[in-house]
Amino acid sequence: MLYKSAAGDDITGMENLRIGNGFDAHAFLEGRELVLGGKKIPHEKGLLGHSDADVLLHAIMDALLSAAALGDIGVLFPDSDARYKNISSIVLLGEVYSLLQKNNMRIINIDSTVICESPKIAAHVYDMKQNISMALGGLAPERIGIKGTTTEGLGFTGRGEGIAAMAAALLRVDPQAYTRVGT
Ligand code: MG
Repeated sequence: MLYKSAAGDDITGMENLRIGNGFDAHAFLEGRELVLGGKKIPHEKGLLGHSDADVLLHAIMDALLSAAALGDIGVLFPDSDARYKNISSIVLLGEVYSLLQKNNMRIINIDSTVICESPKIAAHVYDMKQNISMALGGLAPERIGIKGTTTEGLGFTGRGEGIAAMAAALLRVDPQAYTRVGT
């Protein structure tokens, strides 16, 4: 099927795909709750940050925004803005989803990796996927990949100083945004 973009370019279905990646890291801090994938996880330390410091959701939001060429979370939700102090990153993910909708972007799938020595995240993946699915308009959980890994004692994650996360997202530009010109 062939579509014509607003700029007049002919585009096929495959050319409607957009890939993005995101990365984030936060330092551990005693006295904070640890929140990953919108879930409070029992741990001796939480993460330092202006929001709830949900490093996994931050990486996922940046992957989504970058795929859509809509900026990044530092631009959209600046840490100089008091509105975002201690805000739940699930709320921010919902705002990112609204922005994607307004721009005719549909999510095909998300994949992500949480990098730390502890806690182990496998037992929490089901709940994280449910939280992310709800924030993203009911995106099927099987379209959301979340896994954990360690760095075998190497680097800041290996020394237990913090948690890093990386994410990839694949989007499709909704063909309704284009004028159909042929089959
Ligand atoms: Mg962050």
